[in-house]
Amino acid sequence: MTFQIPFNRPAMAGRELSCVEEALRSGHLAGDGPFTFRCAGLLEKLLGVPRVLLTTSCTHALEMSALLLDIRPGDEVIVPSFTFVSTLNAFVLRGGCPVFADIHESTLNMDENLLEGLVTPRTRAIVPVHYAGVGCEMDVIMTIARRHGLAVVEDNAHGLFAWYRQKALGTFGVLATQSFHETKNIVCGEGGALVLNEERLIERAEIIREKGTNRSRFFRGQVDKYTWVDTGSSYLLSDLLAAFLYAQLEERDAIQRKRRRVWEYYQERLAPWIAEHGVRLPVIPEYCIHPYHLYYMLLPSLERRQALIAHLKANGIQAVFHYLPLHLSDMGRKFGGHERQCPVTEDVSDRLLRLPFFNDITEGEQDHVVSALKEFFEGKQRTHPA
Ligand SMILES: *Cc1c(COP(=O)(O)O)cnc(C)c1O
Repeated sequence: MTFQIPFNRPAMAGRELSCVEEALRSGHLAGDGPFTFRCAGLLEKLLGVPRVLLTTSCTHALEMSALLLDIRPGDEVIVPSFTFVSTLNAFVLRGGCPVFADIHESTLNMDENLLEGLVTPRTRAIVPVHYAGVGCEMDVIMTIARRHGLAVVEDNAHGLFAWYRQKALGTFGVLATQSFHETKNIVCGEGGALVLNEERLIERAEIIREKGTNRSRFFRGQVDKYTWVDTGSSYLLSDLLAAFLYAQLEERDAIQRKRRRVWEYYQERLAPWIAEHGVRLPVIPEYCIHPYHLYYMLLPSLERRQALIAHLKANGIQAVFHYLPLHLSDMGRKFGGHERQCPVTEDVSDRLLRLPFFNDITEGEQDHVVSALKEFFEGKQRTHPA
């Protein structure tokens, strides 16, 4: 069915079409063209990191991370159970074993207090996910990682332009991954980036992204022929998509302003009354600056959540739940996930609901969502009929 107010509606932010046209006219459609360098350069400057490599997706940036860290069969990687499959799958492809950590009830981020108990002699990495772009407790996570000699890879798909204690998300781990999928804040359809926070990894990362060849060095004139030097794959983003992405990045301030308005509009209209109905709204610690990626509510029960989804649907509004607990998935069980306790993940997964959230949602559309919520919880008439 089509919804009057969908969950997501991607929109152009500015010069997307003219940038794509410029890329077409330049004749460079493959990866590592002029727009790729403009995007990567801009992201490097904004994040203050030594190197950003655009990739075909965040999933592929995670796969590159697993290759760069030389994850081998039997290596353990600590991940939250409440995340997207790619956070784990990338490591499982190399033979890694996910070890599931439960989350905080407040931020829905990996519970750092559980980490020490999950570390074994086989642990190689910790992969925190900044849910909704609200920073995980990186001070603690980095301290534990250092103590045990573990790599940290931040899955920062939600958290571009977010901060934790005066430091940008994506700059804590040795590696971090970004997504430009159409559901994220900054988009190009399908796309991502690998953020390299250590110089020593740059050359090998370029090789892995270029099918295991030293083609990048060749194009810079650093070697006189290019050849196969390592394992790798094809993880380069087409310059056509990089052109689209560049136009979005140029408008990042306008995009973030719009999303802030959308987020605060929901917050101001729901916070005064909805807690009385046992509903919890997002929790943002005062030391976190979040990127207004999504707006969620925690309902009192699964039954209420399902009833609300149906009620909103009847009003033409598409609201959606989010991650199912990965430790209980078919694949998660193969790694013994079901033997672990992640009660918060299981509970939250049942009760969480995300409201329609996109850059160009109008106040009228949001009013319609809020009225439908009022009607559900308080039996009030809608002010904006469907
Ligand atoms: C969207 C998302 C991904 C995957 O991003 P793609 O660019 O679609 O591969 C990975 N992790 C998290 C937490 C995500 O939200």
